[in-house]
Amino acid sequence: MKTALVCGAGGFIGSHLVKRLKIEGYWVRGVDLKFPEFSPTPADDFVIGDLRDPAFCRSIIDRRFDEVYQLAADMGGAGYVFTGEHDADIMHNSALINLNILDACYKRNVKRIFYSSSACMYPAYNQMDPTNPKTAEHTAYPADPDSEYGWEKLFSERLYLAYHRNYGLEVRIARYHNIFGPEGTWIGGREKAPAALSRKIALAKLRQLPYIEIWGDGLQTRSFLYIDECIEGTIRLTRSDFTGPVNIGSEEMVTINQLVQLIADIAGVQIEVRHIAGPVGVRGRNSDNTLIQEKLGWKPSEPLRRGMEVTYHWIEDQVRAAIAAGKL
Ligand code: NAD
Repeated sequence: MKTALVCGAGGFIGSHLVKRLKIEGYWVRGVDLKFPEFSPTPADDFVIGDLRDPAFCRSIIDRRFDEVYQLAADMGGAGYVFTGEHDADIMHNSALINLNILDACYKRNVKRIFYSSSACMYPAYNQMDPTNPKTAEHTAYPADPDSEYGWEKLFSERLYLAYHRNYGLEVRIARYHNIFGPEGTWIGGREKAPAALSRKIALAKLRQLPYIEIWGDGLQTRSFLYIDECIEGTIRLTRSDFTGPVNIGSEEMVTINQLVQLIADIAGVQIEVRHIAGPVGVRGRNSDNTLIQEKLGWKPSEPLRRGMEVTYHWIEDQVRAAIAAGKL
């Protein structure tokens, strides 16, 4: 039986990845500070602990796993990453996790390790034009990420590549672009745009509020990738012979205003949008999928609307339950 370790298995992407690996018949160990919030984990073994602790990392990497997936990070959406208030924690915590896990894998002779980097490592100067952002993998340098979160990702990419070069670890690095889907954070400050906007629209619908507020002018562009395709790309990359880094994202670029209209349409409401000041990040970002298509013969292709329908309805259910429980 093949074995896999998923670090960050209590989080959004990690919890979905564990489910997929179990369906494939793997023996899976999940590790996180917390259990998944929204459904029980099917992991064979789930260990609660802190990956900033090197001794804990050595204890959970107690065998030669066939595949290690490193998704644990101190992260969140624009409200967490772009305010500057969490920079020291983000850099310290995530860098420590990556240093510890790589070293423990090397010392246990684990070979295949996947690392989830982020499109946030791309230089800000290539993302000023909302209609034509550049994110081909080779445009990463000269580096100029617009957040410390992005700098830590870039540092850790280089750390993984150094272990590959010097110690022969079979490293696989993906740069995720805005992953969304059900069972992700939708409230509390760490949620991303698709979840935050779905929550605002669901709340307006259920409470019959006349308008919602969104951060910025809404003309900034992004692409959003549904969780199932993220997991598919992650697994394909991990089992390929391509190290990366490679983008795993959607090429369907929309403005935030368009995303709001799409969600309102799915919700079946007409809603006025009021623009307020708030952290927004770069002006434009879209995934460039030339390299993933070339190296894996595959790229994400599902339309945004399909994933947003599933996600919106899941969030509307959460909002309805929270209202009924007096929590919203
Ligand atoms: P998430 O926050 O839901 O999951 C990360 C998990 O890591 C959390 O459950 C958290 O508890 C855990 N963690 C944090 N510190 C830990 C520690 N010290 N010890 C043990 N566990 C710890 O985030 P996600 O959306 O599932 O993202 C997974 C990975 O993908 C992260 O590395 C993130 O940076 C990267 N990524 C995500 C996106 C996205 O849109 N979701 C985009 C780009 C990159």
